[in-house]
Amino acid sequence: MNIKNYIESIPDFPKKGIMFRDITPILAHPEAMRYVTGQIVEFAKKVDANLIVAPEARGFFFGTPAAIEANIGFAPVRKPGKLPRETMSVTYELEYGEDELQMHVDAIHEGDRVLIVDDLLATGGTVDAIVRLVESRKAKVVGIAFVIELDDLKGREKFKDIPVLALTHYE
Ligand code: 5GP
Repeated sequence: MNIKNYIESIPDFPKKGIMFRDITPILAHPEAMRYVTGQIVEFAKKVDANLIVAPEARGFFFGTPAAIEANIGFAPVRKPGKLPRETMSVTYELEYGEDELQMHVDAIHEGDRVLIVDDLLATGGTVDAIVRLVESRKAKVVGIAFVIELDDLKGREKFKDIPVLALTHYE
């Protein structure tokens, strides 16, 4: 399947000069969702993951169906103030300023083999922060899966020791 047929490119969104890759047509087409989910499940099996971790909101779209299909657990990564129980936090650099992500402290256990799933790899800052959260619990990130990789930003170089799956690429 050419998954690019289900990705729309929107110029100047959310601001001028940015070409936004919109994955919502994948959600609208079950054959595309089945393809993406199937690829992530195959990868999850290959790296022997027992838990999928994904950031809001677009990571949830692909991480949860893959977890069900792979018969493993799912744990959400959220913006601050959204999770009701005891949380752990990580901060990461943005182009201007910094941002923070949180998980429930009991969502990850020592020895877990974690597959991180997100829709798109740009600089890798988001997933790099999640790797730090997972490792702080003495769990191991055994793989990272994206629907889209933006090759020119070289985000993959942040994850030299971790297998990275990307289903399609743009410059
Ligand atoms: P990074 O942290 O790798 O620089 O940025 C990746 C994050 O930004 C992902 O969570 C992704 O959802 C979001 N993102 C950045 N640009 C785009 C885009 O063009 N399309 C989509 N779907 N997400 C984007």
